[in-house]
Amino acid sequence: MTAKTHNTIDHVVRSLLCTGCGACAGICRYNAITIRENCRGLLTPVINSKLCIGCGFCFRVCPGQGFDFPAVTKQLFGGYPAHPEIGNFLSIHSGYAVKNEIRKQCQSGGIVSAVLIHALENRIIDGAVVSRWNREDPLNTEVFIARNKDEILSASGSKYSPVPTAQIIGTLKNTPGRFAFVGVSCQVHAIRNAHQMMPELSQKIVFIIGLFCQGTMSHKYLHYALAKAGICAQDVQRFAYRAKEWRGWPGDIRIVGKSGNIEHMPSSDRMCAKPYFTPWRCNLCIDKLNEFADFSVGDCRNPLQYGSKSLKEVNFKGHPGISDIIVRTKAGEGVIKMCLDAGVIELKDSSWQDLLVSAQPSRKKLEFTYFAALARILHIGVPSFNIRYIPKNKILNKKLTRYSSITIVILFHYWLIEIISGTTMYVFAIKSIPIKILAWLNRVREKGLASKNCGPEELIVCRDDEDDIC
Ligand SMILES: Cc1cc2nc3c(=O)[nH]c(=O)nc-3n(C[C@H](O)[C@H](O)[C@H](O)COP(=O)(O)OP(=O)(O)OC[C@H]3O[C@@H](n4cnc5c(N)ncnc54)[C@H](O)[C@@H]3O)c2cc1C
Ligand code: SF4
Ligand code: SF4
Ligand code: SF4
Repeated sequence: MTAKTHNTIDHVVRSLLCTGCGACAGICRYNAITIRENCRGLLTPVINSKLCIGCGFCFRVCPGQGFDFPAVTKQLFGGYPAHPEIGNFLSIHSGYAVKNEIRKQCQSGGIVSAVLIHALENRIIDGAVVSRWNREDPLNTEVFIARNKDEILSASGSKYSPVPTAQIIGTLKNTPGRFAFVGVSCQVHAIRNAHQMMPELSQKIVFIIGLFCQGTMSHKYLHYALAKAGICAQDVQRFAYRAKEWRGWPGDIRIVGKSGNIEHMPSSDRMCAKPYFTPWRCNLCIDKLNEFADFSVGDCRNPLQYGSKSLKEVNFKGHPGISDIIVRTKAGEGVIKMCLDAGVIELKDSSWQDLLVSAQPSRKKLEFTYFAALARILHIGVPSFNIRYIPKNKILNKKLTRYSSITIVILFHYWLIEIISGTTMYVFAIKSIPIKILAWLNRVREKGLASKNCGPEELIVCRDDEDDIC
């Protein structure tokens, strides 16, 4: 055991760079790491110094401290991203699961669950790593290997809560078979890091499904939602962030009480409160579209796919949802084609322009510039990706490099959220702010961070060690 190793992994946590992915606990051969919830409602590792031998594996697998975009891009795809905003891809589609009962129960168009069920039933995989609400403890999640259709469907739907999905590498090491893995970008980065360290793992994980991710939320959000709905945590039987029963896609918070009572909270209310519960590390994440998955999936928000010019004009009542799909690798292409040929999923070809309208990936890549600058001023951590993005649009570029006073106030306001989110009265304080005020604050924030203008902008990609290509 060396103090340096402790400092290294502890440093990730102390620098607020931990994403709570769980990979460090999964890779440690000495069971020296436990993942625990901290005062901010986030999952972080705790090291038992008596068991640790200082091998450094936990730090090497950690995606929180950064991820080498150029190196892994080269290794997986052979070169620079074909598209700076989307990453490397072979094709782009919109689509959904053909079986309506799957599509309705799942988050977007049900592509993830439909593909996993087909791959399991056709023995392409022996199991799939998925995440569901814990049956005994319905406000906590559990990561497990699903072996049949019912288990896959028990994990359907997005959990905007801390989920240590990559911890499963500890179990996979000792479990024979071939598996699929489903995770958000930071979890997929952890799996790609683990592939480098344990080549046998890349033989076991035959394909990775990446979920788009703009940010998750702390466990404190659940308590906020329950307080808003007037339900005690002990009385909850089932919780869903985006259930489609009430008003169709995109789905609303649905809380089922133990006595059978059902409460709904509109998705717009969830979005208003989201910034107050989003971990600081998510502000420093540049990979919304899960660029290192075999294929990535998200909600389709392109109004044209719903037959309209604006999402506001679409009547979603009863709509089961549509997914965006980015096929990135040959492995991903093989699985998607197999499901398409079998009639399990329905796909329409889409273009990168359509995807930019739908997913707006540049927003995260550009906002990183702001948050990294603030982190440097405050002497806290900045993850290293060895890559930067700058907008081609000169006006936007100027906005990003010249900080207006409103931008500075907004950035410090994010930092204030981070500081006070660990206090016991935090949930109560946010709950007492009317939704209208939260919505107004969100609009001010968007304006100040120029993120509204960061939609389908073309970006230039720069490697940190090759400034001259910018
Ligand atoms: C934290 C988070 C943030 C997201 N942000 C965006 C976004 O900004 N824009 C967008 O377009 N899409 C986002 N998504 C993806 C979107 O919500 C859907 O998950 C995706 O479109 C797949 O839909 P589906 O119907 O195919 O999935 P389903 O068939 O319902 O399957 C969902 C799968 O997701 C897995 N899963 C659920 N929660 C988690 C989690 N927290 N960590 C790891 N795996 C999980 C489950 O294991 C399940 O297999 C996000 C998802 C998550 C979990
Ligand atoms: S340094 Fe090695 S033994 Fe110690 S916690 Fe990390 S992985 Fe485990
Ligand atoms: S491996 Fe994951 S859980 Fe562990 S310190 Fe890094 S980001 Fe946090
Ligand atoms: S925004 Fe990035 S860091 Fe945050 S949960 Fe999503 S993938 Fe992980």
